[in-house]
Amino acid sequence: MMFDRPSRIAALAAFLALAATLPVKAETAARDLFGAKTQPSAQGSEAYGFYSHGCLAGGVGMPKNGETWQVMKPSRNRAWGHPALIAFLQRLSREAAAEDNWRGLLFGDMAQPRGGPMKNGHASHQIGLDADIYLTEMPNRRLTDDERDNMDLPSVIDPRTKHVDERRWRPEMLKLIRTAARSPEVQRIFVNPGIKEKLCKTATGDRKWLNKVRPMYGHDYHFHVRMYCQPGESGCEPQESTGGAEGCDLDWWFNVALKPPKPGAKPPKPRPPMTMAALPNACRSVLAAPARDGGTAVAARRASPPQEMAPSDSEVPPEAPQAMPAMAQTPSPLRSSFAPVPPAAVPIPGSRPLQ
Ligand SMILES: [Zn+2]
Repeated sequence: MMFDRPSRIAALAAFLALAATLPVKAETAARDLFGAKTQPSAQGSEAYGFYSHGCLAGGVGMPKNGETWQVMKPSRNRAWGHPALIAFLQRLSREAAAEDNWRGLLFGDMAQPRGGPMKNGHASHQIGLDADIYLTEMPNRRLTDDERDNMDLPSVIDPRTKHVDERRWRPEMLKLIRTAARSPEVQRIFVNPGIKEKLCKTATGDRKWLNKVRPMYGHDYHFHVRMYCQPGESGCEPQESTGGAEGCDLDWWFNVALKPPKPGAKPPKPRPPMTMAALPNACRSVLAAPARDGGTAVAARRASPPQEMAPSDSEVPPEAPQAMPAMAQTPSPLRSSFAPVPPAAVPIPGSRPLQ
């Protein structure tokens, strides 16, 4: 029997009233949705949102091997980035080999194929403009996948003193971090406070680059490079400037932040996982977009991509693309400072300086 219109409205109202009493299904964590994507979206490349809550359209894979780099941790599938990041890292590795006495670089995590929050390991790395670079030199042979996943990557920090372990520190590490920090496309670099201290004590000549190098928990066997939002990408939220100061006053880090927690101190409460509501709307279409065939790259909408875009075993590194123009854009308002969460065992002190 057909309902007449008023009856249908009444039935709908009754259904909605019933639905409201049912328990709401917990919203899926965004990290599960993005973590399930094994391929980038078939879209033009663009970063959406902020480094710690955003996503990446049209991600590009870092080739597993180049003359001056190898990609580590292949089982994680996190060697994806904005084409500007992929091009920059390749260029940096060539520069480090040519000028800083590095045989080559070992690259760590960049982003997931579509960026977004990760199940473990990072608060940022979400928009394809962050990358970890190990402080261990590339060996003179090609590592196996197993070695890349399990190789010991030693810390340069003495765990007892929190300062640099002089037996592990090499002057080339300063050179490499300096070369990265002087690159106009780099917004900031994170290193352990002990490394920052070492840089402050040993940098000679022009020290302006030190302002981009920010102390952070962890980051003792790798450093983290963050690029600026790319020109014209209005959906990318820029981070505030690091200013011009060298940032060599590390008292707070050594006297407060790195001190062991007081006995009985409560560990920081874990934050609930981010849902899609915390990400820009564009990230829904990034998730929903069809996968790009791994072998063919979609031309980047604005950045000039390297010639070889898909992960491969190619020996020959692609030609260096033209240098990115200096990032002159200063859209406002700038995002306030982002600070990654410290390891679970480290309490978060009350007055954290800006990062
Ligand atoms: Zn990182």
